[in-house]
Amino acid sequence: MQGKIALEEHWESPDFPATGSHDFTKKDWFADVQRRLREVDERVADMDRNGIGIDILSLTQPGIEGITDAGQAVDMARRMNDHAAEKLVARHPSRLRAFAALPLQAPEKAAEELERCVRDMGFVGALINGYSNIGDENTAQYLDEAPVEPFWAKVEELGVPVYLHPRIPLPNQQRIYQGYEGLLGSAWGFGQETSTHAVRLMLSGLFDRHPKVNVILGHLGEALPFTLPRLDHRLRHQRPETHGVHKQPPTYYLRNNFYVTTSGVFRSQTLLNTLLEIGSDRVLFSVDYPYESMDELAPWFDACPISDNDREKIGRTNAEKLFGLEPQNA
Ligand code: ZN
Repeated sequence: MQGKIALEEHWESPDFPATGSHDFTKKDWFADVQRRLREVDERVADMDRNGIGIDILSLTQPGIEGITDAGQAVDMARRMNDHAAEKLVARHPSRLRAFAALPLQAPEKAAEELERCVRDMGFVGALINGYSNIGDENTAQYLDEAPVEPFWAKVEELGVPVYLHPRIPLPNQQRIYQGYEGLLGSAWGFGQETSTHAVRLMLSGLFDRHPKVNVILGHLGEALPFTLPRLDHRLRHQRPETHGVHKQPPTYYLRNNFYVTTSGVFRSQTLLNTLLEIGSDRVLFSVDYPYESMDELAPWFDACPISDNDREKIGRTNAEKLFGLEPQNA
């Protein structure tokens, strides 16, 4: 399939090492990933080879969210967004777009920066790497918490989606991974952290207060299409005050306020289950480059056993509608 749109596609500037520790990955592998994070022309060559028309770029994790000082986070977010616009998107304007990186340590400033990026620089939304550090490495602010409310009001006003991307669990909450540090990142811990964060958003009443907000999850929904039906069912037997102030069951929000992408998952069985749970209107193609390979993911997607109508929607037209992009000539 030609003209695919991919939207979990990461970058990093040599001015700001955004990736955090990769002690648990192989040195050669990570060196190649880091080189590609900082490269732009090679990315476009990879896209050409794999029928990808547009990459929507995002600063890699933990990025701005891992900065413990709010003032520094505000300053760095602005610098990184300027870099994305001037050095990356401007070099290949028909092939690259960008998500804003935001300083959620200061939610009002994050709302202002999102508005600047969307209105003045043509960004298509924001990608947020999980919780933000507040003051130190062991203190988190999750996106459902009260200080973040002004940010969500701005998101709804601007009508752009927010991609909730994983990051590693807080250092003081890693006991279950002790002795198995390789599980902390994308292999396992990312999914646990992000799916729980997404459930917090659902149970917080965020989508009752802001019904037009759309959140995107990678990795085919971080297992939620598989696990949420049981959550719905079990919550029916629990005291309401133990699970938030939501008006609808969690699966309602998954079907009405979330999109999921194929990033990092090239497994037809998992895609088919996701389609059975949420339908083809809310599934989007993505790779998770350069942590994943376009050469592996794109050929799987082009041949996976779904209808050609659904392949068009997931590969391109759902994203065109969600981001208001010009239709691609296939
Ligand atoms: Zn990613």
